[in-house]
Amino acid sequence: MSEEIAGWRHVYSGKVRDLYVPEDPSTGPGADGDGPGRMLVVASDRVSAFDHVLSPGIPSKGELLTTLSMWWFERLAGADGGRSIPNHLLVSSVTESVDVPDAVAGRSMIVKSLDMQPIECVVRGYITGSGWNEYREHGTVCGIRLESGLQNGDRLPAPIFTPAYKAPLGEHDENITFAQTVDIVGAARAEELRDLSLEIYERAAGTAEQHGLILADTKFEFGIDGDGVLTLADEVLTSDSSRYWDAAAWAGGTTPDERMASFDKQIVRDWLAANWDKRGEPPALPDDVVTRTADRYRELLERLTV
Ligand code: ATP
Ligand code: MG
Repeated sequence: MSEEIAGWRHVYSGKVRDLYVPEDPSTGPGADGDGPGRMLVVASDRVSAFDHVLSPGIPSKGELLTTLSMWWFERLAGADGGRSIPNHLLVSSVTESVDVPDAVAGRSMIVKSLDMQPIECVVRGYITGSGWNEYREHGTVCGIRLESGLQNGDRLPAPIFTPAYKAPLGEHDENITFAQTVDIVGAARAEELRDLSLEIYERAAGTAEQHGLILADTKFEFGIDGDGVLTLADEVLTSDSSRYWDAAAWAGGTTPDERMASFDKQIVRDWLAANWDKRGEPPALPDDVVTRTADRYRELLERLTV
């Protein structure tokens, strides 16, 4: 599934990204003896839903996700006027394309190899998806009790941290409570993950709002660098890791479909939910689903960054 890249050795493939380490760690960007270990993260065009990688891929998705991640990393490093949040970038193919292999230029980043925390740090400002399912059944999301009477797509009184345990490849990530997060990473780290996630969400939601967008929810991944610093990793605030809605449609809409006009892979999820019983291999995505998804990913990037 991954490609051969001269000078780099493939070490892991997730559902969307392929990870490589340098064949010779003593040369190339970031190489200075005892500096941080480096990795090349290549975003593919693969799309996943319900824990399955689907076919075909979404054309240019890897590039769109990388461009959007890079844009957000820069905002969060202080370009939005806020304090600088440490991130894993050593070299970005967007600003310094010379340093990443030509074959993957535009869809790859050279990053610090981190000790990843096994927690998906989800923040929700609005209720939908797995949060809505739990709320409908139990009145809670990840153990947090919410007021009664909320509708799918409603804004929450305040954003909430709703972590998930990061399951090994092929298994389903599981929503967990804050107490379970404390059991896994310890109280101090759990609080740090929560506070940092909420801070980043608030900043990003504010930026999205300036562009007529609602950041309904999003997922962050963090790792620890060689100096023990909690560092923002993976992709950030992309249409794969987040739900973005059109603010005007949400405000004027009456049905969930009208309110949640999304710039993410909801089109794929909806089509799959209607056309697959979740047994065996998922069916191939039809051309129009692929095209509409690609258009929405591109539109989000344009609305946010242009
Ligand atoms: P999974 O990790 O369960 O396969 P996924 O399918 O979402 O999840 P991808 O996003 O495709 O995975 O792959 C990216 C992988 O790289 C993730 O496992 C992520 O935790 C890891 N990763 C991202 N940034 C770093 C980093 N700086 N150091 C180490 N690992 C990283
Ligand atoms: Mg991922």
